[in-house]
Amino acid sequence: MSQSYDAVIIGAGIIGAAIATELARRGMRTLNIDRLPAAGYGSTSASCAIIRVHYSTLDGTALAYDGYFDWKHWVETLGVDDERGLARFHECGCLVMKTEHNRHLSHILPNIEALEIPHQHWDAEAVRARLPIYDLQRYAPAKLLRDEQFGQPSGGELQGGVFFPTAGYINDPQLATHNLQRAAEAAGGAFRFGRTVTAIQVEDNRVRGVSLDNGETIHAPIVINVAGPHSHKVNAMAGAQRDMTITTRALRQEVVHVPSPEDFDFEHEGIVVSDSDISCYCRPESGNHILVGSEDPQCDPREVVDPDDYSQAFSEQWTTQALRYAQRVPNLALPGKAQGVVDLYDVTEDWIPIYDRSCIDGYYMAIGTSGNQFKNAVAAGRLMAQLIDYCEAGNDHDNEPLQARCKHIDRSIDMAVFSRKRSINPDSSFSVLG
Ligand SMILES: Cc1cc2nc3c(=O)[nH]c(=O)nc-3n(C[C@H](O)[C@H](O)[C@H](O)COP(=O)(O)OP(=O)(O)OC[C@H]3O[C@@H](n4cnc5c(N)ncnc54)[C@H](O)[C@@H]3O)c2cc1C
Repeated sequence: MSQSYDAVIIGAGIIGAAIATELARRGMRTLNIDRLPAAGYGSTSASCAIIRVHYSTLDGTALAYDGYFDWKHWVETLGVDDERGLARFHECGCLVMKTEHNRHLSHILPNIEALEIPHQHWDAEAVRARLPIYDLQRYAPAKLLRDEQFGQPSGGELQGGVFFPTAGYINDPQLATHNLQRAAEAAGGAFRFGRTVTAIQVEDNRVRGVSLDNGETIHAPIVINVAGPHSHKVNAMAGAQRDMTITTRALRQEVVHVPSPEDFDFEHEGIVVSDSDISCYCRPESGNHILVGSEDPQCDPREVVDPDDYSQAFSEQWTTQALRYAQRVPNLALPGKAQGVVDLYDVTEDWIPIYDRSCIDGYYMAIGTSGNQFKNAVAAGRLMAQLIDYCEAGNDHDNEPLQARCKHIDRSIDMAVFSRKRSINPDSSFSVLG
């Protein structure tokens, strides 16, 4: 049995579904293939789904701000109904603490100002007024639990932070992906679940299609790797790694869910906070919980794993993260049983994604999303569609990189920053902050 499409997209996570929507709307016959039973069941389902606009690079910031408007106007972004309902954007805002680690945002604010992104400087009193459960003593640098100094204040107080109102989180990342699946289908896109791509056909350095685990072959002149933490395995099938200076790997992560102190309604009064003094970010979660992720301090081991064989049990990382956050919220009551998620980031050397073609004509990749590209999914769909048009028209993207247009802001993005052949970007945070 064989079938043919204009483009096969390997993966139906939030980015795979967004690329499908954009390509299908441009008239391409697309097929997303995913080994899991439904859209968004891979690493997307574990996402904290935080929408924020501050990034370390100007292009990264522009992409995030462009992407913010897709979530803000989700009904218009989709243009279709979903029988399961629509995901919701809780636009609670995001506070980034000013710390020595982030140089008091001195390298981020010029990007924010260049793009005229709304922001407010909050002093310590303003932070306490919004988050009365917070203690602003300094604790940096982050330490491991076994360090005798763990939990000891390092002297002085945080002086405040910068609040970005155009930020928040999506309540259900899996549902958001299903919403995009429905948008892609409305434009003619097809989805196949429960099937694994086991081989990628290449002839005369041009991709021809893929083989599935049931022996089926799907013919397509364009194949896009959007396989999340499996991206390096998929690239290996195609032989696409040979000219990549930036590569991907699966990095194990734990996210902590803890109840808010009872005297504060974090679910409704809380905000997203990035706090590099304690190396944690957090956001409100339903049931008056707080979700706490790591900002990947240097002292923490990096757990690179096989995406098909890794432990899904909580480890000491959970306790470390929970106790780091308890430095900021002294009344935090830790549950007797660890709650949260264990999942994988698909990480590059500089924690900036690869949105690029490959050394094989017709084979593209949207990978290495490094724990921070959920928010950019729809915007990344637009980048990939423009890139495919540009390359398939015969342009030499590697030497004359596409300047991709944003939709909601008057700006182009130099796609060289997302190249597989770039040098490691020294401006990166080298963490989930991108
Ligand atoms: C714990 C965690 C927290 C995060 N928090 C945030 C956040 O707050 N904000 C933010 O912006 N980003 C966040 N991210 C990152 C964000 O979730 C990801 O960048 C995004 O979900 C990646 O989407 P994707 O479609 O590329 O990949 P995935 O959702 O991983 O989808 C890839 C799909 O490919 C399929 N696949 C793989 N190999 C094959 C194969 N051979 N054949 C068929 N199918 C295959 C998989 O089954 C999977 O469904 C977080 C990620 C994690 C893990």
